[in-house]
Amino acid sequence: MEQLSHYINGSRISGSSGRYGDVLNPATGEVQAHVPLANSQEIDNAVTFAKTVQPQWAAMNPQRRARVMMKFVSLLEKNIDSLAEVLSREHGKTLPDAAGDIQRGLEVVEYCIGAPQLLKGEFTDSAGPGIDMYSMRQPLGVTAGITPFNFPAMIPMWMFAPSLACGNAFILKPSERDPSVPLMLAELIEQAGAPKGLLQVINGDKEAVDAILQHPEIQSIGFVGSTPIAAYIYAQSSKYGKRVQCFGGAKNHMIVMPDADIDQAADALVGSGYGAAGERCMAISVAVPVGDETANQLIEKLIPRIEKLKVGPFTSGNDVDYGPVITADAKKKIEQLVETGINQGAKLVVDGRGFKLQGYENGFFIGPHLFDHVTTEMDIYKTEVFGPVLSTVRADSYETAINIAMDNEFGNGVAIFTRDGDTARDFANRINVGMVGVNVPIPVPLAYHTFGGWKKSVFGDLNQHGPDAFKFYTRTKTITARWPSGIKEGGEFTIPIME
Ligand code: NAD
Repeated sequence: MEQLSHYINGSRISGSSGRYGDVLNPATGEVQAHVPLANSQEIDNAVTFAKTVQPQWAAMNPQRRARVMMKFVSLLEKNIDSLAEVLSREHGKTLPDAAGDIQRGLEVVEYCIGAPQLLKGEFTDSAGPGIDMYSMRQPLGVTAGITPFNFPAMIPMWMFAPSLACGNAFILKPSERDPSVPLMLAELIEQAGAPKGLLQVINGDKEAVDAILQHPEIQSIGFVGSTPIAAYIYAQSSKYGKRVQCFGGAKNHMIVMPDADIDQAADALVGSGYGAAGERCMAISVAVPVGDETANQLIEKLIPRIEKLKVGPFTSGNDVDYGPVITADAKKKIEQLVETGINQGAKLVVDGRGFKLQGYENGFFIGPHLFDHVTTEMDIYKTEVFGPVLSTVRADSYETAINIAMDNEFGNGVAIFTRDGDTARDFANRINVGMVGVNVPIPVPLAYHTFGGWKKSVFGDLNQHGPDAFKFYTRTKTITARWPSGIKEGGEFTIPIME
């Protein structure tokens, strides 16, 4: 049995807490490794190393830090296949999907190569007589991030790349379900020239997270995961006086207008609803066709597409559309929600129940499900399913459709499919959701924009990556300087007026 470790001060270190978690192979249900679960002493050790190395790293000119990012990008490219294979084995997603997970992280590292430009301050010449005023962005010190299982490469990179580029040290607590790729990323960035102790990976569960939240030397917390935990992390981090940004769960709608290209909308729904077994925070889990005719056409086009989906292990290569869900508990929760959906009166038009794969009977595979006639009161609508289950909520008009999405407690992503520019523009302006797709089903912004939802999908103000990340991982200092120093005689007892 493989024994995983932490990555502390440049070495793989066995855990000392005596507590371990199981890392499963979701395709077989077997335990493939044990991961140590850290205690507060191990967090404290990592913080000590981070504090030692961070000032030297911050003192380096930003271009030299950017060069480390540049080398890290080329190492990621060189190692993408082996990283993807490890990722698929622990997460269960297909190899192309795993490579995409790494690629979308890599793109944020690429953006961070622009650190010298992004960290440039502001300057006002002659703000007063002999007075200049300038502001600079300085790193926070030791920063930390807590990440979810569903993007074990991308989300850690979204956090640690900008943090390091800004001159911070970073302690990553990845998901205990798939911790191997984060450990490999820490090794690769050291090969790229980052000093030991700058990026450390501490594996663990709530005990490690609480120790991070309470540690007085950790300045900021980034969190991505489910909404109840995001709310907890936000409240605790605020209580301990830390800068914090938390990104939570989602329930993403796709409005399909009567004038939409229904084939295009059906293809988009299949990819975004069932890709990665529905375990994406930007997955579309609710289709909202406008008018019964649109709904009937859409359902008719969806059924054969969904029935054709191939479910299997990543080792089957390109023959597979999606893999297993992450754990037996996740599978059970999804299956229970499907039963509740049926009992509450939704119509199951594609029934994936009882799905079994020969040779993988103990894997966490779930067949694809499609519900029609779902209402907003049903649990299958109200809960984030995070599985291969698409619900259809029929709306009688555009206004009803937009209000369904607006009234939902989550606000991560949303999409509209239409050929009408007027409707699309009105929708983009009025909808209270952070990321909007127009004829695009998974509107994940690229690295140089920012990523973040609204409502219960977010706690905090600044978004992930893009310019916001450089604000989150730095603080502004503004200097007002007078040269020559003695222009005015005597003391000043009022706020100086910049004449
Ligand atoms: P999760 O909330 O269970 O776990 C996330 C992290 O929190 C993990 O590192 C875990 O160890 C830790 N954690 C779990 N329980 C904890 C507790 N009681 N106290 C302290 N820490 C705890 O989420 P998950 O199942 O790993 O990921 C799936 C969720 O993440 C979904 O809800 C999905 O929508 C969300 N997600 C959101 C985004 C986004 O950008 N909004 C992106 C990806 C995933």
